[in-house]
Amino acid sequence: MLALQGAFREHVATLGAIGVEGVEVRLPEDLVDVAGLIVPGGESTTMRRLIRRWRLTAPILDLARSGAPIFGTCAGMILLARSIAGGEEPVLPLLDVVVERNAFGRQLDSFEADLEVPILGARPVHAVFIRAPIIEAAGRSVDVLARLDDGRIVAVREENVIATAFHPELAGETRFHHLVATMAAAHANPGEGAGRRPHPLRRSSAGA
Ligand code: GLN
Repeated sequence: MLALQGAFREHVATLGAIGVEGVEVRLPEDLVDVAGLIVPGGESTTMRRLIRRWRLTAPILDLARSGAPIFGTCAGMILLARSIAGGEEPVLPLLDVVVERNAFGRQLDSFEADLEVPILGARPVHAVFIRAPIIEAAGRSVDVLARLDDGRIVAVREENVIATAFHPELAGETRFHHLVATMAAAHANPGEGAGRRPHPLRRSSAGA
């Protein structure tokens, strides 16, 4: 759990509600033993600065490239985007999407909506949007997980990276965290359960 700024305590509480320990990450060494990372909502400009200051960029990108799940909500989604409308530098460009910050303008500073998210089952997700971004465009390798009624994309997945424009952790919604925790467990213990496959790190060291 990236804990530099923003709504990280709510994510740790949501993880706790499903029996998963959330470790607060502030420094590169905090990433050594984690099996996945949540990048919370908050203020992306502040988090961008703190990620650079504490030299977290490379270790987070390495964690993602090892196959560990990365889950960004709201500002977290902005930080994970390969492109930010308006020309801001990307921060952790792991998702092939273009995002627009504060896409709902002043009138709709915050709102809530019930969204269909088929990979999480039939029950809709109650989504809380707070000065939320929107995904303007998504590459071919990106799966769209949810859209607003008007068709705009608000949740995506590209392999091990998931992002939502909204805050599931503020609505008592645990299914995204459950999915991410399941992916983290599979990443940490690749030999367990069905679908056994070589560990990405082990494979590269064996080939060296
Ligand atoms: N508006 C914020 C930003 O652009 C994101 C808001 C949020 O994370 N709730 O960084």
